[in-house]
Amino acid sequence: MKVAVFSTKPYDQKFLEAANEGTNHELFFLEARLDGTTSPLAAGCPVVCAFVNDQVTKASLVTLAKQGTKLVALRSAGFNHVDLEAAAELGLKVVRVPAYSPYAVAEHAVALMLCLNRKIHRAFNRVREGNFALDGLMGFDFHAKTVGVVGTGKIGYLVARIMKGFGCQLLVYDPYVNPDCEALGAKYVYLPELLAASDVISLHCPLMPQTHHLINETTVKQMKHGAMLINTSRGALIDTVAAIEGLKSGKIGYLGLDVYEEEADLFFEDLSQKVIHDDVFARLLMFPNVVVTGHQAFFTQTALESIAKTTIENITAFEQGQPLVNEVSFSKVKK
Ligand code: NAD
Repeated sequence: MKVAVFSTKPYDQKFLEAANEGTNHELFFLEARLDGTTSPLAAGCPVVCAFVNDQVTKASLVTLAKQGTKLVALRSAGFNHVDLEAAAELGLKVVRVPAYSPYAVAEHAVALMLCLNRKIHRAFNRVREGNFALDGLMGFDFHAKTVGVVGTGKIGYLVARIMKGFGCQLLVYDPYVNPDCEALGAKYVYLPELLAASDVISLHCPLMPQTHHLINETTVKQMKHGAMLINTSRGALIDTVAAIEGLKSGKIGYLGLDVYEEEADLFFEDLSQKVIHDDVFARLLMFPNVVVTGHQAFFTQTALESIAKTTIENITAFEQGQPLVNEVSFSKVKK
């Protein structure tokens, strides 16, 4: 099938081409991000392949549908950037990659925790300048600390499991109990209790209307003073302005972000020669106790191979009229 692959980076092309060997879909790689203005680039392609910051909005979908697109194949697990209602109205199917390597994201969340605690980002710069003084680099033992995991699905469970290995106490919050998490000895509590008792809080729930700005002015106040907050899930789980106020007051002692609510205009591009116009983001970068990575938690070889393989399988299943096991539909999500 003809597939327009939006937001292509060289690594996407490499892994998709490898996964497509023997299947031979016609892949058209486009650097452009999908939105209402770039959707005409997919003319003649029954399949459009999109990533996390593509705008799979009603405007984009209307043009795609008019041009004959029938399937949107997401190269991501998250689908908060897709107007599923519009897709259903227009008769477009949407498929995703529900799991590729939860280990990649869980391990990155823990990397942010370790970096912030032991101030690796600061030590790296100091040592390169010949400054071997330790003042300001003191950390704490994770052992016996309380880690709060919000969302105990595939990634949240693994974070809990890794932190259990460090000897941490585990508090977790999720509307659905994961028995594997309970088997680790994790205690399910409501969010305010988790926030009040956790030394480290790691977010692993999806972005939905119910979780938008889950961390806000009110919930920051519920946190333990000086707690560490980690978000590798989706940027808009955190009200960034409230987080900045929390950092200024010391309520948030450490902030590790792999995602940011306005990341679409920043992440995945080299902007090192440009002025950053987002003052909220620029303020975040000024704190010594904030580490930001540019949505790279998924970025391991294992994960990229798996994303490409499942994406090609999803497209082949659609072509052959097989059941779309990875379909995400408005009717299912509404339930
Ligand atoms: P998952 O579906 O396995 O788990 C999500 C969990 O969140 C589920 O157990 C669900 O019950 C729970 N949940 C739903 N609503 C909740 C709420 N209101 N409060 C608390 N928990 C709630 O998903 P996953 O594979 O573990 O992925 C989690 C998130 O990680 C994804 O939604 C995605 O946004 C993000 N992600 C980020 C990257 C990255 O590179 N940074 C990569 C992959 C996934």
